Amino acid sequence: MECIFCKIVRGEIPCAEVYSDDSILAFLDIAPISKGHTLVIPKEHYDNLFDMPDEVGNHLLKVMQKVGSAIMKATGATGINVVMNNYPSAGQVIPHAHWHLIPRIEGDGLFRVKQGKYDSNDEMLTLANKIKENV
Ligand code: 5GP
Ligand code: ZN
Repeated sequence: MECIFCKIVRGEIPCAEVYSDDSILAFLDIAPISKGHTLVIPKEHYDNLFDMPDEVGNHLLKVMQKVGSAIMKATGATGINVVMNNYPSAGQVIPHAHWHLIPRIEGDGLFRVKQGKYDSNDEMLTLANKIKENV
């Protein structure tokens, strides 16, 4: 199946564009969590965060800052969530790396992910060490 976001980059599917340069495109999500919800994508196809090359990183950060502030100005939002889903188990539906910029307003009640706790401090430190060993 052809990638929907690659089709949007090539102009084969229309989008409500908010920013474009040589390597990055940003456009409104068709099913917004809040109005102004924007997707920022590299124009080159990468499946997710883990197959993106280093050189995309710096520029992408700058674009997210620029587009994020513009969204806040245009919508009157007082906060913004930056979310990236990687792999289907984390909710990634479109396998073309993308960041969600979701404008928020105090008390909008949209989402706050439920947090849990470790059974013990020992469990927490053991897991931290296991991750450290895998870095
Ligand atoms: P994911 O769940 O993969 O992180 O997010 C994919 C996002 O792409 C969803 O929020 C969905 O609403 C959005 N989306 C899917 N198809 C299209 C489309 O054709 N155009 C636009 N603008 N957004 C889309
Ligand atoms: Zn793609």
